[in-house]
Amino acid sequence: MNLFNLLPFIFPNECLFCGKEKEGSICKKCQTKIFVRGESKTQLNNKLFYLSIYKNNGEKLIEFLKNRKYFSLIPYLIDESLFLLDNEKIDYITSVPSLKFLAYIPEHLEVFSKDLSKKKNIRYLELITKIKRIKSQVTLTIQERNLNPIGAFSLRRDYKNLIKDKRILIIDDVYTTGSTLKECEKLIENNGGEVLSLVYSKAIIY
Ligand SMILES: [Zn+2]
Repeated sequence: MNLFNLLPFIFPNECLFCGKEKEGSICKKCQTKIFVRGESKTQLNNKLFYLSIYKNNGEKLIEFLKNRKYFSLIPYLIDESLFLLDNEKIDYITSVPSLKFLAYIPEHLEVFSKDLSKKKNIRYLELITKIKRIKSQVTLTIQERNLNPIGAFSLRRDYKNLIKDKRILIIDDVYTTGSTLKECEKLIENNGGEVLSLVYSKAIIY
């Protein structure tokens, strides 16, 4: 098969959200609807930056990246992130590890995090590894979500000394109860690091 036949799928012409405008993967109009950049706090009272609201297009954004592998969306997310992180001192960037079913298919969080690290000229570290299989948080009750990620992650031993007194940006796709991120924050804080986080999308829990 000719590779160029695949290009419209990798770089679609029409906006993925409205299907109308031909300005790239997200048209200007949809960009203003989807990206409502903001700052909040995690359970452990660390800074949490978000690019969108889950119920308001964020869910779709994540679905496109996670299941359909529309990586042409990543540059838009990077631009939004650069605005948010402009005044932040960051020493390293890392991401919440996810379960890879197929090792040869790149995973969106890793691709995004590595691209952001290049743009900001900050080293990306695979700091955290998954040591226990966890269920998808979306299908669980709030109580189950809080217990689910406990003990699921571990800090890579060879990086432990590197993070003392350093400020680490952790990247995840969605923030719901914050229990997954909390586990990762604890690992870094327990080893003397400081944490701030960035997610594509934040759920609002009433
Ligand atoms: Zn659009």
